Amino acid sequence: MIKSGFRRKMVGVAIGAVVLFFGAFAARSYNMHRFHVEKQTRFMMDTFVTMVVVGPADIGSAAIKAAFERMQEVSDKFNNRDPKGLIYAFNHYGTPITDSEILFVAEKALDISRQTDGAFDITVEPLVELWGFYGDNPALPIDAAIKACLQHIGYQHLIIEKGVLTKDDPAIRIDMGGIAKGYCISQAAAVLREKGITSALIDAGGDVYALGRRGQQLWKVGIRSPRGNDILGFMEVENLAVMGSGDYERFFEHNGKRYHHIFDPRTGYPVEGISGATLLFADPMLADAWNTAVFVLGKQKGRAVVETLPGMEVVIITDEDDLMVTSGLANALQINTESNLSIARRP
Ligand code: AMP
Ligand code: MG
Repeated sequence: MIKSGFRRKMVGVAIGAVVLFFGAFAARSYNMHRFHVEKQTRFMMDTFVTMVVVGPADIGSAAIKAAFERMQEVSDKFNNRDPKGLIYAFNHYGTPITDSEILFVAEKALDISRQTDGAFDITVEPLVELWGFYGDNPALPIDAAIKACLQHIGYQHLIIEKGVLTKDDPAIRIDMGGIAKGYCISQAAAVLREKGITSALIDAGGDVYALGRRGQQLWKVGIRSPRGNDILGFMEVENLAVMGSGDYERFFEHNGKRYHHIFDPRTGYPVEGISGATLLFADPMLADAWNTAVFVLGKQKGRAVVETLPGMEVVIITDEDDLMVTSGLANALQINTESNLSIARRP
């Protein structure tokens, strides 16, 4: 069953979320009353982030500004490419990390590594680098280079003890790209709440957090197809994160084959089997980590693990264009029958 955020009569769901019908709602429902709709967009975390706040006019704008500032602060902190950053120093000079926020997220990441037997692993950084996904020209490395990389990958090499993160192999490097965006979103939402906001929506390039309700109604979030722009389906949510992971975000093609940025830490190659996984959970950070984890675990195992986690649901689009959902979404996700997807049979 889905947690508080869902309603049985949800009208549908999809990959790469999209917020539906906001404009009409804003104009009609709110401006006539004492509520005000404030919407701002900024380029952040490599994407356009839009925040919409519904509330008394005097606090909305300041709340969004503070939430954006916090989001920028956190995304800077987790940027492992910044030579002045704590993660860069840890990766390149072995400087221990004592920052409580990085430790908090790293601990969650390690929990999920253990729960997924290493499918989710923030020590994949050398692979992301080798395949060129930090730059503009990613390319297929030679197999020997990939094998060499694997020698220095493994979450077991990270040690958190007495508030300090260290590593037992100097070549271990971390990349929190699979979880940090969700943490940034959770922090922006926390700021909005602190400022007294009870109705808001944060959309970070298709990763969405719905805070409260949109007035009397729920927020309507659609899921976009991993190929093309059609909406696969949609659903209504409150206090819920809808976070997508996909082979369409960063990829290149070589001899007709697609290579993307989510790696199997055991093989060193991009994972095959899923083209998009959208995770629904109350905590955006965990929703983000688990979308990557599901992607790596694969369609059967990924869905099976999510079924065991209370309040968590997933929508998977396989690389054969089948749609698979966890049982809590069976009625909640309204499928767009115009799309080309078929509903996968239960194993
Ligand atoms: P997401 O879009 O949330 O799935 O995150 C993708 C990012 O996670 C990649 O760009 C890498 O930085 C990182 N990543 C890739 N493979 C893994 C993995 N197996 N475990 C954890 N993080 C990964
Ligand atoms: Mg993720």
